[in-house]
Formats: sequence, structure tokens, C-alpha cells
Amino acid sequence: MEKENLVVFTGAGVSAESGVDTFRTDNGLWMNHKVEDVATPEGFKKDKDKVNEFYNNLRELESKKKPNGAHMLLSHLEDDYNVTIVTQNVDSLHERGGSSNVIHLHGELNKVRSLSNTNDVIYWGDKPITKEDNLRPHIVWFGEQPLDINKSIKSIKEADIMVIIGTSFNIEYTIELVNRCGLIPIYFIDPNPDTTIFGDKEVTFIREKAVKGMSQLYEILNKEKEINYN
Ligand code: NAD
Repeated sequence: MEKENLVVFTGAGVSAESGVDTFRTDNGLWMNHKVEDVATPEGFKKDKDKVNEFYNNLRELESKKKPNGAHMLLSHLEDDYNVTIVTQNVDSLHERGGSSNVIHLHGELNKVRSLSNTNDVIYWGDKPITKEDNLRPHIVWFGEQPLDINKSIKSIKEADIMVIIGTSFNIEYTIELVNRCGLIPIYFIDPNPDTTIFGDKEVTFIREKAVKGMSQLYEILNKEKEINYN
């Protein structure tokens, strides 16, 4: 039997149990900085050192975090499905959890771009960027276009099952993006999900944190599989 296409759309919530702050964590890293200072092209132009320092810090912190059970279970799903992960996250926890097909809409902390040619993306690991490097973080800032959007739209249109984990949908284009899916089973794992974004489409809400929610979903999908085989 041909494998079904399962698309997973993730946000900061999937990494929260790995100890990575979500955007809106009280007193988290993001709370102590103005978005316009550290996450816009204008902010970078104004003070490159400040912005580099912010991402140097994030890069170092992230490199010490470990994938959690949700990242791991997502990679196990590849045994039974063609899995594509479309993530807003800039951490590498999906890859380090074993997932092989990950689209990073908002860039990746462990990569950098040359300032002389910003299409030149370089793997950088957990090293800091210094003044002399003439580089910028490979991060999509507010006001910039998300990456691989056409590839993401194609995957979502071709999805047979859609799973959403840990996102507030506060970034507006993401609502339109996930709504490109057809009338297919949709599962949304989040302790506090936005229940309005799918309009009339039927959604199964799993109101749990990512790790527990993913293990519940894993059981649901296994049960569905048994029914399909009988
Ligand atoms: P958000 O902070 O706006 O929303 C987080 C969502 O996760 C909320 O809906 C919340 O209810 C949910 N959540 C909190 N704890 C959870 C848990 N343990 N399990 C499951 N869900 C949980 O994040 P967003 O929607 O991803 O948008 C914020 C933007 O900030 C994105 O563009 C992202 O690139 C960026 N960001 C990325 C990271 C990362 O790479 N890990 C971290 C912070 C922010």
C-alpha cells in the first residue's frame, strides 16, 4: 500500500518542553527585547552587534537543548507515512529528533548568510558571528518573506493528514497557508489552541502539551491504521 502524505505544521510550542522559550513566555528571552530591535532588517542595519549578540546567545542556548518526545515521535511516523514538517521554528530540534524532511519557513539558527550575497547560505553550527565575519543570521525577520513557501503550499495541498503543534497563528500568513489543505483529517495539539482558524473544516483538538499530545495522536493514528487494514 502506498504511504499517505502526513504534513506537520509546528510552532514554538513543540520545542517548549525541550526548554526553548516560546515567543510569548513570560520573562523569556523575547520578552526582554523589542522585536523591532532584534528581529527586523531595520534593527540589524541600526545595530549589527546588538542583533548578532542576540542570535549568538540564542544559537548557543539552542545547541544545548535536546529534542523531546514529540520531536522523536514525529520522526517515528516516517515508518508509516511520507512526513513533511513545515516549521516556523529556527531551532534544529526536528532534525536532531530524526526527522528527514523539514522546511524552515523562518530560517535556521545554525546557518548564516553572507552580507555580500544574502542567497549564499552557510552552515555555521553553534559558533558566534563576529563583526569581522560580514555575515547575518539565516533568520527571516519581520517584514521579510518566508522561505520555501511554494514548496510548503505544495506539500500542504497534497496532504492526506494534517497535524498542527504548538502555534498561536499570530503570524497572519500562517492561517492562509494551513488552510490550503483539503477536507482531510486535521489534528491540532496545543494546550490553548486557536479554534477559529479552520472555519468550517473539522478539526480534532488535542488540548495537551506537545509530548503528551503527540503520544495520544500516535495511538489514534495506529488505531486508524488497524481499522484501514481490516
Ligand atoms: P507563539 O509563542 O506565538 O505561540 C506558542 C504556542 O505554543 C501557543 O499557542 C501556546 O499555547 C503553545 N504552547 C505553549 N507550550 C506548549 C507545549 N508545551 N506544547 C504545545 N504547545 C505549547 O509561537 P509561534 O506561533 O511559533 O510564533 C512565534 C514566532 O516566533 C515564530 O515565527 C517562530 O519562528 C519564532 N520562535 C521560534 C522559536 C523556536 O525556534 N523554537 C522559539 C520562539 C519563537
